[in-house]
Amino acid sequence: MGLRVSKYRKEVEALWAMPENDRNNELDRLLRKNRPLNAAAEEVTSLEKLFSSPPLSKRALREQDSQGRGKKAGRFGRHTAGTTGEPNHVSLCRSELGRMLGVRDYCFRHYGLKLGQREARLWGRPEAGMKSWVKNFILNRHVFHPVGPDANNEMAGLLDWKPDYLYGYASLLLDAAQILETMDIEFVPPKCVICTAESILPAQKAYIARVFKAPVAEEYGATEFDVIAFECTEGHRHLVNPWVLVENSGDNGCLVTDVSRTSQSLVRYELGDSIELELSECIRLGAPEVISHLEGRSINRFAYLSRNEKFHALEFARAVDRYQSQSGEVFGFTVHQYRYGCFVLETSSDPKKGIQDLSDFIVEYLDGVVGVRVEITPENEKIVAEPTAKKGYFIQAMEPDHDG
Ligand SMILES: [Zn+2]
Repeated sequence: MGLRVSKYRKEVEALWAMPENDRNNELDRLLRKNRPLNAAAEEVTSLEKLFSSPPLSKRALREQDSQGRGKKAGRFGRHTAGTTGEPNHVSLCRSELGRMLGVRDYCFRHYGLKLGQREARLWGRPEAGMKSWVKNFILNRHVFHPVGPDANNEMAGLLDWKPDYLYGYASLLLDAAQILETMDIEFVPPKCVICTAESILPAQKAYIARVFKAPVAEEYGATEFDVIAFECTEGHRHLVNPWVLVENSGDNGCLVTDVSRTSQSLVRYELGDSIELELSECIRLGAPEVISHLEGRSINRFAYLSRNEKFHALEFARAVDRYQSQSGEVFGFTVHQYRYGCFVLETSSDPKKGIQDLSDFIVEYLDGVVGVRVEITPENEKIVAEPTAKKGYFIQAMEPDHDG
């Protein structure tokens, strides 16, 4: 395809093998050459200039694009609907796509995989996700839907295809693992199960790994950048793209810059995901910077007790993870908030002691950490594989009048 993936993968390896200073010099050199525009429409020609640039909002990116600033005609285009539902256009030229795939190949090799090997993809519905664009370039892929009345056959077909790795949202991998566990079937374990990092709990991950007899690696990415972080075999989510710089920016999510991008200027782009970075000693993969906390879309970060009282939605994940560790079972879940102090709980399958038991457990748990007894209503309808439920376990659905 002429995308020179291995050339770029070798560049990725070389950049990560360099001392930080040398790598920064390389990035400075690229910036002097590419001269992307920042949100103030100024040319960014050094890392210093980059870090003093204002943040670029999704809206500003759209305006920048519509005015044709900082952009050459892209060969590959795709639209992404952000959290606001307003589409952004991402354009990539051949070398940019090659770089992204090079980064992906670099990550895959950490697990003894290569780009282009057999991928079994679990997807809720066709085209309903990020990254469907990559599929045109990685052809060795089969999509499976191990849900519904035909789930066992679908799973048997998946295993029969002998994938090198599985790829999908945590909720679907979980469904698949639960089906596989009930089947008496011999299979060659995949080399790795890759899942999106936003929605998986440690207990779920351990379960998926056990049933598929394979390591589970979390991938954190965005439509605009593809893979940003990838989990090493020791469980750290390392930043893996040497051209993509990630900064914390407090409550408004993180700022992401791609210094290699020429078809579009992405300088301190507000991604909207709330993450925390930490320096690790681990040199197995990518950067020493690892994502220590990932709380997904910042809009879904807090649960509100009242106008002025809130707590981290992460507590729901902690509660359910504890419940699952204690009861030895695993299921998917989503919590919705429509009113102050009130939550609706859905699970992908009924807990053994029933969903009311889980609700009571969460209420007790939250009472311990937040000091308030909240109201949790179990939703008896099962979660259908909705795209909204895949990005995380907490959906903040109240009217946004709680800003002040
Ligand atoms: Zn590591």
